[in-house]
Formats: sequence, C-alpha cells, structure tokens
Amino acid sequence: MSRREKLLHELPFGVDYAKSARARCKYCEMNIPKGELRLSVRYPSHKFMKMQDNWLHERCFWKSVRKDELSEATIYGFEALEWEDQEMLREKIILNEKEIKKDEELNDADVKDIPLVSSGKVKEALKVQSEMLSEIKKELIEFKFKLKDFDEIFKANEYHIREDEGISECIEQLSDFIVFGVPSKCPKCKEGTLYYDYTGHAYKCDGTGEKSCVFSDPNPERKSLNVGEDWAENGFLEGRKLPMLKERSYPPGAHVKMDTVTDYPRDRIRRPTRFGKHLEDES
Ligand SMILES: [Zn+2]
Ligand SMILES: [Zn+2]
Repeated sequence: MSRREKLLHELPFGVDYAKSARARCKYCEMNIPKGELRLSVRYPSHKFMKMQDNWLHERCFWKSVRKDELSEATIYGFEALEWEDQEMLREKIILNEKEIKKDEELNDADVKDIPLVSSGKVKEALKVQSEMLSEIKKELIEFKFKLKDFDEIFKANEYHIREDEGISECIEQLSDFIVFGVPSKCPKCKEGTLYYDYTGHAYKCDGTGEKSCVFSDPNPERKSLNVGEDWAENGFLEGRKLPMLKERSYPPGAHVKMDTVTDYPRDRIRRPTRFGKHLEDES
C-alpha cells in the first residue's frame, strides 16, 4: 500500500482541546481559544503526505459541515476526550443522524448497520477506561515530569520519545502504559515498537529499520510498566496495581475500513456569506 493510498483510509474528522490559540475557525474565521474543544475536517496534504486538520469551533462545526459518515469511530482523537465531552458529542451525532435521515435516504447499505455511537456494555467499558485515563493524566500533570523524565521511564521499558513529540504526547503515552500495560516488541518483524494509532483504533508497529511493517493489533500482548526505582521511591503510582485494565475497549465500527477521505474534503465545509446564508464552497 502506498502512503497515498493509506491516507484514503484515514479518519475524515478530528477532535481535540486546542493546543494553542493560533488556529482560525474555517467557518467564522475567528481564532479558537487555547484549551477549547474543537472539531476538524481532515484532508490529505499531498505536499507532506499526511493528514491536515481544518479546525472549527465546536458550534461552527455543527452549523457548517456536511456530516455524512460522522460517528464516534470516525472522529480522530475521540477516545482521548473527557467523558462529559464524549457524551455531549454522542448526543449531537445522534441528532445529526436524525436530520440526515429526514433529508435523504442513506445509500451506503453496509455502513448503515453499524451503530453510530456506543451503548450498553461497550459504553460502560469505555466510560471506565476513559475516566481511568483522565485520572492518570491529571496525576501525571501534577507530577510535572520533564521530557528527560519521560525518556528515562520509556527507555526502561524499551520505548523512546518519537520525533515531534512533546510533553502532552508523552503524558498520553505513559497513561496508556499505566492503564493497559506496555506492548511487547512487534511479533511480526520482532524489532518494531507498537504505538497506539487513533486512525486504526489499534496499536501499530513503527516499522523501524529499512523495511516498514504493517502489523497492528487492537490489544497486543503487554507487560506491566516498569516504573524505575527512582520514581517508585518518589511515590509515583504507589499502591496502584498495574496494568489497571486487561484490554482497551473500542466503539462500534472502530475496525471497519471505509474510504471516507476524498481528495477534496474541503467541500464538506460551507462558508457563511455576507447575508448570513450558506453557499456551497466553490473552491
Ligand atoms: Zn467558528
Ligand atoms: Zn513490526
């Protein structure tokens, strides 16, 4: 599979808490404040051969974006949100679906059968893991780890900090280790390291070395995190039984591959006109 083909299986939407106040909303063109929940329409940037986010205020997203294919499993980063925010979005996803159904009959028969949001036992499991991850992330923030501290802990577990990764990515990674355990080396190529991938909803081999490796597994074999003597003496994770959970849970449709990304997803975003009406984006 070429890198370009791979991009076509990427998720069409994204969500996070704004990392800076620099991004401008693609609908109203106002800046999105730092820390605010924001949603994006993602499209492949051919220049960089990776996905690019077109960020929108949460309120503007619902107003302006064509949202077919929107579900809990098609929003990149959904599982990293606070549970209350996940719940708020689930409600809106269901409302959105009702509106689409009113407008037109859905034509994608195979995708239609997958529930858009989780419910029942799966949802309960997602809630438990989401609240555990949030709690651990808060603890890690209070510990005020520096990059070199993460580096030390990761190395003790045969991991490393990847290029472009900062404190927030390290917190994300370490919480995953604490809650679910540390994935063993890739069973396929024997040397790659497995990292959680929001798009595939699975742990993927980073394929180090000359050959790239396509191994991925939603719940690979894991061992408990080795905290290191120094940190253990400082009381880090004291009294916690690791790993906290046996498995990571996933929403419905998380492992269905869809060609949801087109070359021009920008046509998903409608722009306001001067008269407050929508025009289809002609760009
Ligand atoms: Zn906006
Ligand atoms: Zn591998």
